[in-house]
Amino acid sequence: MMISKVAFIAGLVMQIVIRYPYRNNTKKSYSDRQELGLLILLTLGSGVFPFIYILTNWLSFADYDAPIWVIGIGIVVMIAGLWLFWRAHTDLGRNWSSTLEIYDQHTLITQGIYQRIRHPMYASNWLMVIAQALLLSNWIAGLGGIVGFGLMYFLRVGKEEQMMLQQFGEQYQQYMAKTGRVIPKGSASV
Ligand code: SAH
Repeated sequence: MMISKVAFIAGLVMQIVIRYPYRNNTKKSYSDRQELGLLILLTLGSGVFPFIYILTNWLSFADYDAPIWVIGIGIVVMIAGLWLFWRAHTDLGRNWSSTLEIYDQHTLITQGIYQRIRHPMYASNWLMVIAQALLLSNWIAGLGGIVGFGLMYFLRVGKEEQMMLQQFGEQYQQYMAKTGRVIPKGSASV
């Protein structure tokens, strides 16, 4: 369906626009092979496969029909995801990075949206890949984001928290005790 493809592309463009002011120009070496591999998988699953699906019929063997309300829910989830993506960027500010690193001027953020959850940006990424699955009615292009981001999330988030603990010690430990990873504490300890 045309509208769902347009919505998906609009969502990607919005993410680029929201992130643009926070980009950092430091050349990354990605010495960590795993991090590089995960970023490549994420790009394939949430960018390359969707574009092949939208622009060609090469993936048509994996198409299925989705009712219109699935597309509607996809758009709602996408808007919620974009809002959270924007909030997380405003609060994290210059501390944002596409990989795991601590800057010279790094500050620990525990306020704003970070007051409730430790990984609002990853929470927004979850919403966006769920929206992708709802919007793109194709097993490969639709589920590529969940697979790509899911792998990245589960292999990265523990390492990221170890890095933050090493850098900020007790301060991060206390912060962890008060927050959930992507769902506010109290609802679940994920
Ligand atoms: N996991 C966070 C941030 C993703 S960006 C989220 O989902 O919102 C990844 C970078 O953010 C890492 O390099 C790490 O140094 C930094 N980071 C993660 N949590 C942070 C926090 N509470 N305060 C400051 N920087 C943080």
